[in-house]
Amino acid sequence: MRYVQLICLWVLASGAAAQAPPSWTTPVKPVRVVGNIYYVGTEELGAFLLAGKKGLILLDAPMDENVDLVLRNVQSLGFDPARIRVLLNSHAHLDHAGGFAAIKKKTRAKLYMTAPEAELAARGGRNDFAFGDRLAYPPVSADVIIEDGQVVRLGEIAMTAMVTPGHTKGCTTWRTIAMHRGKPVDVLFQCSLTAPGYKLVGNDRYPGIVNDYPRSFDRLRKLQPDVFLANHASFFGLARKLEKAKKGDANAFVDREEFPRFLDRSWKSLEAEIAKQRSAMDD
Ligand SMILES: [Zn+2]
Repeated sequence: MRYVQLICLWVLASGAAAQAPPSWTTPVKPVRVVGNIYYVGTEELGAFLLAGKKGLILLDAPMDENVDLVLRNVQSLGFDPARIRVLLNSHAHLDHAGGFAAIKKKTRAKLYMTAPEAELAARGGRNDFAFGDRLAYPPVSADVIIEDGQVVRLGEIAMTAMVTPGHTKGCTTWRTIAMHRGKPVDVLFQCSLTAPGYKLVGNDRYPGIVNDYPRSFDRLRKLQPDVFLANHASFFGLARKLEKAKKGDANAFVDREEFPRFLDRSWKSLEAEIAKQRSAMDD
């Protein structure tokens, strides 16, 4: 599944097909993950709602086409989309930021981004170091520029930014603590670690890329969240977990072993790609 998505993104990026994979716009029933955290995205593209007394936080706006679907999901969980105050982002590619312009028009929410993602979003994804103008979306301006380690608060909710560059220059992994069945649980929202068709060695547009990825992995390896979430549903096995939840498993999303396994898998494929590109340079 994961590889299917990578190929799709690559095909999309290569311009061979202008069509997004169907799973990117296929609705799924919104669901409570743990505590005050809900999944409001599509079958494949993540969007997360954090509900607090002072309002709502929405993490990611997966494509302009999905804005109504995401806001309907928020509504169907019993929350008023007008109470969305804070918009957070994993990274500013169209599948995670394409809907922010429309959501900002419909709410009074403020958009928080790292400086590199804010620049990309202001260009509507154009002039991307890897995809050029091929993944364009309605441009949007960030209201607040955030940095690594910054905590974004709304009432009792605190989301901590961890900048994990590589896939984009300001790719942001988010962390928070939620209460689940009376106990605090560590929740992690992983930014993408994939490199779909990327030039990793000798990239003039992003010379630091080959060092940024390993550094991001090293930092992430120190974490072992109770709940692993990500901006692509296939990264954290949403379909499998929804099945478990449907059968009444209250811990469907809790698995401390999953994130380290995901990192190992992701690193192996990235490391192989770097080695392949290095040996091609040596030839
Ligand atoms: Zn991306």
